[in-house]
Amino acid sequence: CGIVGYIGNEDAPAILLKGLSNLEYRGYDSAGIALLNSEGVHVFKEKGRIAALEKHIDPSIHATLGIGHTRWATHGEPNKRNAHPHQSASGRLTIVHNGVIENFVQLREQYLQGVSLKSETDTEIVVQVIEKFVKEGLGVEAALMKTLKFVKGSYAIALLDAENPDMLYVAKNKSPLLIGVGDGFHVVASDATAMIQKTRRYVELMDGEIVELTRDSYVLKDLDGNVQEREPYTVSFDA
Ligand code: GLU
Repeated sequence: CGIVGYIGNEDAPAILLKGLSNLEYRGYDSAGIALLNSEGVHVFKEKGRIAALEKHIDPSIHATLGIGHTRWATHGEPNKRNAHPHQSASGRLTIVHNGVIENFVQLREQYLQGVSLKSETDTEIVVQVIEKFVKEGLGVEAALMKTLKFVKGSYAIALLDAENPDMLYVAKNKSPLLIGVGDGFHVVASDATAMIQKTRRYVELMDGEIVELTRDSYVLKDLDGNVQEREPYTVSFDA
């Protein structure tokens, strides 16, 4: 299972698919990507191999921002519906997640009465709760932080907001996640091998941190919004 993300100026699908292929060694049962451009979000997901996913991606869609996922199912059987990315009720928010949300039943009962769910995953609960807080008036970043304060369990998360095509949100707790820093772009990856062809400079995320990525800036914060200063390190192995 693994996560990739890209925000830059190149065509995202090829970069995401290459990144996911590089993470295949971790094992997975399904795969998916979400692309965000001025027309909105486009989600493609399939049970099975990345090669099967690739065949279903509409080649006429161009985007320079996207997220990708290989799933190792923990909640909900491995099928297309439970494959990531998952979307909020309105379709505004799109998430990929590795890990396990231990208190997803409690979160569902507390915050999502009356919301009809589209999958059996623990992950969908997270994106639906974020949207609930957005609908109550919070910005996406504040809603993400508030949700993660309630979440118990492990997560590496990447999140797209259809209303902001210049921003990629990521978060981590007890699951691996790195930010790759490039010239005019950023990548997100479960480990450096996924995106080593794009950059060798990485910023490590600590548990309980979120990052707001634009094409040319990264801002790390804890869940109280305190900015964390951290410089990239250079990976030196050959991939
Ligand atoms: N718990 C999530 C699910 O079952 C994520 C699994 C993973 O890490 O791939 O969909």
